[in-house]
Amino acid sequence: TYVIAEPCIDVLDRACVEECPVDCIYEGGRALYIHPDECVDCGACEPVCPVEAIAYEDDVPEALAPFTADNARFFAEP
Ligand code: SF4
Repeated sequence: TYVIAEPCIDVLDRACVEECPVDCIYEGGRALYIHPDECVDCGACEPVCPVEAIAYEDDVPEALAPFTADNARFFAEP
């Protein structure tokens, strides 16, 4: 799955939402989130992000690793 990290916060450009073929990018309070079970790893969203907030989960920098968990948590059942 792809992950949206810190650079998206308070930016919410939404260019990625337009690109995603399976509509798995959702809007949260201050950032966008990719549903980890719905993402088909096509990579279409990554190059269109103007702040480079999107990365494949294995390529997310160590410092931004908490955002991988944050994306999953966003979609977890309460
Ligand atoms: Fe959507 Fe593809 Fe990006 Fe996954 S990698 S969020 S399926 S555009």
